[in-house]
Amino acid sequence: MIRDIITVACVLLGGIAVAQAHEAGHEHGAHEHGAARLDIAVEGGTVQLDLDSPAVNLVGFEHEPGNAKERSTLDKAVADLKQGGKLMSFTPAAQCSQKRVMVKSGLLEHEGEADHGHGHEADKGHHHEDEADHDHGHEHEGEAGGEEHADIAVFWEIGCARVDALKEIDLKGFFGRFPGTSRLEVQAVLPGGQTGAQLTPSATKLKLSQ
Ligand SMILES: [Zn+2]
Repeated sequence: MIRDIITVACVLLGGIAVAQAHEAGHEHGAHEHGAARLDIAVEGGTVQLDLDSPAVNLVGFEHEPGNAKERSTLDKAVADLKQGGKLMSFTPAAQCSQKRVMVKSGLLEHEGEADHGHGHEADKGHHHEDEADHDHGHEHEGEAGGEEHADIAVFWEIGCARVDALKEIDLKGFFGRFPGTSRLEVQAVLPGGQTGAQLTPSATKLKLSQ
């Protein structure tokens, strides 16, 4: 009897572990249009912001640009994402300014390739090796259901001369520029602990009560 109970317990625990692993592996596929994640870390005089957004929120599509109009939309979005100072404002007394920015997306991977029209079969091997989320942006691979998804990730590094004075980050500019975003799920790690918030076009301010 006891042995049976132990066996059952082991099976259950095993099942839970598998379920969790399964969940973690699917994080990338689970993007919800209109929503995005923003992770913020404040450490020393530096604020790091990591945005992980469905491409559709920012450019209106999730395939590689198929014409000049889409390419220009994408290029403009990337250029604007790189100007963090216009998308978010920090408590002025904290004297913050952008130090670094990076924009990554499956939609940008083929940029600058002269022979864009070539068959994708041929380059599958070398392009796809170490990029787990590559095929989110790919329309040639016959995914089940024919659905395609792509994310745009942005990393901003902001330096603040008086980080102690930083009480608030306002993303009004971001919501104004990218109206396809209706919700930002924010997690912030501050020197004094963590805080989370859901920002929307009508609630754009993140309070940092340190
Ligand atoms: Zn999508």
